[in-house]
Amino acid sequence: MRPAGNGQDRMHYLWQAASYTHPVTGARLRGKIHVLRHDDLARTVCGRQITALGGHTFAQHGVEHSSCQGCQNSLAADARRVEAMAQWRIKQEEDDREWWRRYEAYLQTPQWQLRRRRVLERADFRCEGCRQAPATQVHHLTYKRLGHEMLFDLVAVCDACHEAIHRPQGGVCTT
Ligand SMILES: [Zn+2]
Ligand SMILES: [Zn+2]
Ligand SMILES: [Zn+2]
Repeated sequence: MRPAGNGQDRMHYLWQAASYTHPVTGARLRGKIHVLRHDDLARTVCGRQITALGGHTFAQHGVEHSSCQGCQNSLAADARRVEAMAQWRIKQEEDDREWWRRYEAYLQTPQWQLRRRRVLERADFRCEGCRQAPATQVHHLTYKRLGHEMLFDLVAVCDACHEAIHRPQGGVCTT
């Protein structure tokens, strides 16, 4: 995956620092080309204030014209951070999908069917939320022991109560 924020086709503002005379050799040298921060065009990504450098700003697609190692290092570090973040998000999504896959599979097992039955029996098939409507679903109070639940981890509920339980968080349990 190409890291965002460092693409060669993206418009960047660069800073050509003023030419200067080498203090010892007296040679006339070109100032370094820095990359300006996107959120603050008065500063370079290597942390300098452009007013202290002297020179001029120019716009450029890509950052390959920069001659400042500090700017390059900083951009590379940003790109690594973005990439690490993207990888982490992908991993989270995979873990989520994997969790749901196992969860759905567990709901098909005789062990779950037996626990579910016992919870409904404990509640006399009446909702433990309202004690009015017939219990139609079994809700997890915790997933800590998923697959080997204690019966007190589970409650028998009617459709309306189950929906109410999940409303604040947007819903997790599908039973
Ligand atoms: Zn720089
Ligand atoms: Zn109810
Ligand atoms: Zn639930």
